[in-house]
Amino acid sequence: MTKSFVGSSYGMKLVRALRLVLGRGEFALHEPTFGDEERRYVLDCIDSSYVSSVGRYVELFETQLAEYVGVRRAIAVVNGTSALHVALKVIGVGSGDEVLVPSLTFVATANAVSYCGATPHFVDSSFKTLGMDPESLADWLSFVAVKSRHGSLNIQTGKRIKALVPMHTFGHPCDIEDLARIAYDYKLRVVEDAAESLGSFKDGRHTGSFGHLSTISFNGNKVITAGGGGAVVTNDLKLADRVKHLTTTAKIPGGFGYSHDAIGYNYRMPNLNAALACAQLERLPALLESKRRLAKSYAATLEDIEFLSFVREPRNCKSNYWLQTVILSDEATSYSDEILFTLNKNGLGSRPAWDLLNQMDFYKDCPCAPLNSSLELARKIINIPSSAGLA
Ligand SMILES: *Cc1c(COP(=O)(O)O)cnc(C)c1O
Repeated sequence: MTKSFVGSSYGMKLVRALRLVLGRGEFALHEPTFGDEERRYVLDCIDSSYVSSVGRYVELFETQLAEYVGVRRAIAVVNGTSALHVALKVIGVGSGDEVLVPSLTFVATANAVSYCGATPHFVDSSFKTLGMDPESLADWLSFVAVKSRHGSLNIQTGKRIKALVPMHTFGHPCDIEDLARIAYDYKLRVVEDAAESLGSFKDGRHTGSFGHLSTISFNGNKVITAGGGGAVVTNDLKLADRVKHLTTTAKIPGGFGYSHDAIGYNYRMPNLNAALACAQLERLPALLESKRRLAKSYAATLEDIEFLSFVREPRNCKSNYWLQTVILSDEATSYSDEILFTLNKNGLGSRPAWDLLNQMDFYKDCPCAPLNSSLELARKIINIPSSAGLA
């Protein structure tokens, strides 16, 4: 039997199982869901002529988002990447610093570190959560880091490790409390990349409410969308003011002139996007319910397939199940390309995990912990059709 024959028979078995849940038709990996409210708010915005940097929807969205996440402030920005950039900036990440990030994440997590002139320092992820692994992080830091007055020092590079950026992969909460404890011990600031985890909770607390600052994305493929958008959320009012200031070109308020007191950014979310975001936030509870229902059907149907396991929410967590995920068995791993090809050819939008960031050409010389689990996960993960409309 050829490799492609074996691979496509694995693929067809998965296709048949997914069809039991999804029925006939073609399905994208993830699509947004819109209704009348979205139309109404966006039209209202257009009719008011306030579509850009001024308007009531931005503040409304910020207030409602902060309330939903359970933090004191939210600042709406143009996308999740700019949210990460400015969050790292306001905690003082700068040239010569290192920031610990998972190797298994979207490239934006590390790019934001680079925008600050700092270097990403890659660490391993866990099979339990798909997020940063506290045990291997603690082992690695006890090996490479010495605590100093401000942050810790990487004894291999001589650079200061300034912050830790855990990410909640596909919406599943990582072990954020353990990670925050380690960060505290090593005097690292914590910025949660909660881009994917709006609506996900750990021990009853919303993801993104654990870090000094956290960031969320409202890109078109996320749980809810603003067309494009992001937010920084925090309980620290001083940092919140700083984020607001820097993301609105650091303009000094009052007066008719243009006075600025720093090199700021034009990162403010436009009112038009905020209008869409407000309608989507109202829809969020229903979307979450649908996504959890879809996960339940997948879990039950895929249980009988011996060459993979369906990823369920970690213990003590409530996941938004942003992207539904299976992990291939050791035996099936070498056929993942064929399985992905077969799924997509049969109209089931599916894709692998991200390429590990430490393997990208432009990050290959960055400091890096042993990545045993990330390496394995990157080869075993397959995301399957996940839209809320499918349930
Ligand atoms: C989507 C995403 C981002 C970036 O968000 P954008 O709004 O697309 O800039 C950052 N990190 C992770 C993990 C993401 O999934």
